[in-house]
Amino acid sequence: MINAWNGRHLSIGGRLTLINSVLSSLPLYFFSFFKAPSCVLKELVNIQRKFLWGGSSNTKKICWVSWDTICLPKDRGGLGIKNLDLFNQSLLCKWKWRGISDENALWSTLLKYRYGNMVDNFMSQSTNDVIGHSLWWRDIMKIGGVVNGDWFKKNVSNVLGDGLSLRFWHDVWLRPVCFKSLFPILFNKALYPNIVVGASGMWQDHTWVWKMDWSSVLSATEQELAQELDTLLTGFFPYPNDKDRVRWNIHQTGQFSVHSTYVFLLSRVVTLAIDENVVEALNQLWTNDMPSKVSIFGWRLLLSRLPTRMALAKKGVIVNPRELCCAFCFREEEDIDHVFFNCSFSQQIWKGIFVWLNVDFIPYEVCWQHFISFGALVKNKSYAKARHVIWLATTWSLWRARNNIMFRGDVINLQSLINQIIYISWFWFVGRIASKSSLVFSDWCKDPLSCIFSI
Ligand SMILES: [Zn+2]
Repeated sequence: MINAWNGRHLSIGGRLTLINSVLSSLPLYFFSFFKAPSCVLKELVNIQRKFLWGGSSNTKKICWVSWDTICLPKDRGGLGIKNLDLFNQSLLCKWKWRGISDENALWSTLLKYRYGNMVDNFMSQSTNDVIGHSLWWRDIMKIGGVVNGDWFKKNVSNVLGDGLSLRFWHDVWLRPVCFKSLFPILFNKALYPNIVVGASGMWQDHTWVWKMDWSSVLSATEQELAQELDTLLTGFFPYPNDKDRVRWNIHQTGQFSVHSTYVFLLSRVVTLAIDENVVEALNQLWTNDMPSKVSIFGWRLLLSRLPTRMALAKKGVIVNPRELCCAFCFREEEDIDHVFFNCSFSQQIWKGIFVWLNVDFIPYEVCWQHFISFGALVKNKSYAKARHVIWLATTWSLWRARNNIMFRGDVINLQSLINQIIYISWFWFVGRIASKSSLVFSDWCKDPLSCIFSI
């Protein structure tokens, strides 16, 4: 289907929306039941990646940002595209959760009949023997299992209720480890090693008294240990009106959710660190109410991931050094610093923009800093959605002009480009942010900052 919708007819913003809404939800049904084989995942990501970067899945395009970064949430520098592998794991994790939280459900009984106690399967310390079991079961066991850092077990805790299902020695219910591991000597002396918490004591005059039965008389050392255990238990008692339950520690309510699991798994992804100043700039970028193709352009610019001549040379696409020239001045090599800010032509454009804004010229050091300094012209947070309209209109127009010179042979006039920036920023501003205001274009031409402050 994606092939038929030739991606070249959509902007990158449109393609991003399509990926998030269609490509990520298509495999949902399958993903809820089965672990997708890694070759399938790889192929799906390939389709998504090619589609995002321009066009159909048959053409080869350069992927300018790593897929792991793209899958990061926006507040960490990504575009928030769903990581299919992690999403698949989060969906499957639900089976494990159901297995330990709803042991009486019919399907749970069936699984128990086939594979044994779910709590033992999913929560025990040792690696379970899964050889000979179905592929489905082996996949489920692997989700958050030992090879995966044991994250499933580590995120579940037991909450003591009536104590009728939690086993005193085997289950983790009071300390971070079970009493069997904490007091192995005493465990060996326990008369009822499988006793539940609720049967390990009794109520006497409204007070809960812990009482252990031992298989033989305790030695002096063992008595000391029993004393220690007793001290640990002091102040704890079962709640006869509540059932024992499990808690999903990742979510503050303690209830399992696929989303919280996905966010947790995403937080474990290690990607090449993005400069925190750039991340901060990106966070400001997304608060602007811009057409998505413009926001994504800004995202690529701030990440230094636009196909300038120098960037193409680094990728080995351009090999002739004479082709590295800036399209505006034909003198210097074209990289982001030069083409957007340091080129004499671009500087003239910025000067014109600052005169229009009636503010001091902001000198250039690095891209994120220029972006943030520009945003500081609009200090109040309530105008954050319009803060970078003009900055984005300027860089966007410079890039378009550069492309038109390069690919269409256009001749660019300084003043007409400034006029174009004024017009396009007005178009975005009034089209999205100030659509209900009575401002007119001449107001914008005269004093754009006042217009922004009037929204
Ligand atoms: Zn130049």
